[in-house]
Amino acid sequence: MAADNLTAVLYKIDDLRLENRNIPTPKDDEVLLKMGNVGICGSDVHYLCHGRIADFVVREPMIMGHEAAGTVAKVGKNVKNLKVGDRVAIEPGVACRTCSFCKEGQYNLCPEMIFCATPPVHGNLSRYYCHAADFCFKLPDHVSLEEGALLEPLSVGVHACRRAGVTLGSQVLVLGAGPIGLVSTLSAKAMGASKVVCIDLLEDRLKLAKNCGADVTLKITREESPAAVAKRVEDALGEKPDKTLDCTGYSNTINIGLEATKSGGTFVLVGMGQNEVTIPLLAASIREIDIRGVFRYCNDYPLALAMVASGKVNVKQLITHRFELEETLKAFETAKTGAGNPVKIMIRCNKD
Ligand code: NAD
Repeated sequence: MAADNLTAVLYKIDDLRLENRNIPTPKDDEVLLKMGNVGICGSDVHYLCHGRIADFVVREPMIMGHEAAGTVAKVGKNVKNLKVGDRVAIEPGVACRTCSFCKEGQYNLCPEMIFCATPPVHGNLSRYYCHAADFCFKLPDHVSLEEGALLEPLSVGVHACRRAGVTLGSQVLVLGAGPIGLVSTLSAKAMGASKVVCIDLLEDRLKLAKNCGADVTLKITREESPAAVAKRVEDALGEKPDKTLDCTGYSNTINIGLEATKSGGTFVLVGMGQNEVTIPLLAASIREIDIRGVFRYCNDYPLALAMVASGKVNVKQLITHRFELEETLKAFETAKTGAGNPVKIMIRCNKD
């Protein structure tokens, strides 16, 4: 069907275009969504600036966008969980559902994963888009489409806290107060952490961390040694944190995290800053620090939604900039240049 389906397509480095495409037809297990909001993620900006992330290379034009929510406009013939008019959050990674990882409950590790806006898979920054119905989560009336879109980064925070084992009374260190550090802070507090310390280089990011529930924020410099920062964390908490979430992925912060974590505690690496880093592995090992990886999320959307729907988590405060779909290039320029200190940039895909 040819109609207005304005779509943001990345052709190559620094070549993002808005073009009109056909409205797709949902397959039997899919729904057609009239898109509501799509947030810009650091990975979208990375593809725009570098054309690749690790082995995922933009070789063909790719539709951007994966932090999204929309309204069901059509349902495929096998769809039972949704009906036309339902507003949903879109979990952007659709796993195969049959491999051993899927069957054993770790579908985020599925080798056949189809993930929006990860080349060669198209994303959903468009007016209309089709998605697997079982990876759509119906929003209650009082949860907005913007909040629905923000369930994507929030699910990363939920997954990171689950991987770290954050629970009632946990003392948590969050390294980096970008969007991912902020959703990790929100999640840790919602899961009962008694204290969260958040660290960043930038004062305005730390202000947001405070608003997200961080009990202590520490502005550090790149010159401070990991031992010196770890001491500041311990002084602030009265003891070492038992859970540390690195949300930057740089050698410097990983070293701070391992130094700061209590013996017997858990360090999770959420950040994907550097591929190879030098860390004091033996020192961490003899203090029995568990080092765990984090990859996106797995069965975390329902909890993220419950946290927002209950009013326990205010994720909207992360939005600093709003644009219409027609202004997508301007939105990405803002994300790229950092003009106006953006945290989360939200694009509205349909005006009604
Ligand atoms: P971001 O760049 O917006 O935020 C990073 C923050 O870390 C910034 O506020 C920055 O000032 C701070 N920072 C950088 N170096 C620092 C240092 N040396 N000490 C203290 N603070 C420092 O990024 P984001 O969108 O919040 O994402 C964070 C990381 O999480 C990225 O590496 C991203 O790729 C990764 N990520 C991982 C997953 C996953 O599944 N594991 C999912 C999403 C994002």
